[in-house]
Amino acid sequence: MKTLEMMGDSMIRVLDVEAPPPQPGQVIIQTAASAICGSEMYRYRGDGVARGNGGHEAVGTVAALGDGVSNLKVGQRVGVSAVVGCGDCRECEAGRFTWCDHNTIYSQMHAEQFVIPARACNILPDDLPWEDAALLTGDGMGLPYHTYKRTIDPAIGTVAVIGLGPIGLGNVMLQSHIGRRVIGVDIVDYRLNLAKRLGADVVIKSDEALIERIRELTDGAGADVVIMCAGRAEAVADAFLAARKGGTVVFNGELNQEVLAPSRDFNRRDITAIGCWYYHFHDFHDMLALYRNGLAIGKLITHQFPLGAADTAFDLFSRGLTGKVLLRP
Ligand SMILES: [Zn+2]
Ligand SMILES: [Zn+2]
Repeated sequence: MKTLEMMGDSMIRVLDVEAPPPQPGQVIIQTAASAICGSEMYRYRGDGVARGNGGHEAVGTVAALGDGVSNLKVGQRVGVSAVVGCGDCRECEAGRFTWCDHNTIYSQMHAEQFVIPARACNILPDDLPWEDAALLTGDGMGLPYHTYKRTIDPAIGTVAVIGLGPIGLGNVMLQSHIGRRVIGVDIVDYRLNLAKRLGADVVIKSDEALIERIRELTDGAGADVVIMCAGRAEAVADAFLAARKGGTVVFNGELNQEVLAPSRDFNRRDITAIGCWYYHFHDFHDMLALYRNGLAIGKLITHQFPLGAADTAFDLFSRGLTGKVLLRP
């Protein structure tokens, strides 16, 4: 089967390998669509992170069952959670794989087939298109939904989203869908324009006087909630300053640097900071309900490519010239 390998230095190759055999409790999925995630850019560029195949947002058809799998059948359409809990603790029972102390993150999904434990599969309704399903079972909509669930206060009026990669754009779409006023911030014109089309009320190019602009738009106060989707250390201080006193900053983007100053960022302005990672496995059905109620998530997808054109797909994505991108093996 064909799979891809990131070589670092923004290079990708497609290679032929033996299809993986399923271990007990696992299934093989024939990939229908695999989405590119902003978190893969570290690997793609080779910034000191293990390279390989970072695909972790895929949907497809069950092609083979490992021993002991009884909840799925060959031929069923499924979407998978890339974060898979041990299956045997209180958090797993509650459908919170991300809180399981022994969870594993699966990848290798930019390929014609991949392996995943059967318990990480959500069976897809027959009428759900692959494109939308890839967003509803991956972090594409999963993380914006998780963020929404953690900022449910009806008093929230204005939300600023800093960083308009696919996760930021997903937040723009969902937050505007529920009636909040959204301010989108990025450095790339393509993504600012896309954010407008997805429901942002105002967009700001972040080299402009960002904090002043956000204050102007909020009667001098700042946004009720700031969702930080940029993986850049310099943007963290901006995220706190863009929030009003008593407001909330939510972290979505991956960043592994120490950048917070508690007095400046939290104490003096009574700020609440929230961390959000991925989504809870059991959230799929609530996300599906939002979709059925008119959340047109497919608009997030701007490009689709065959696996053989993955180099073009990643190149465009990494330069900010796309929304969500799907590979179609
Ligand atoms: Zn992801
Ligand atoms: Zn567990």
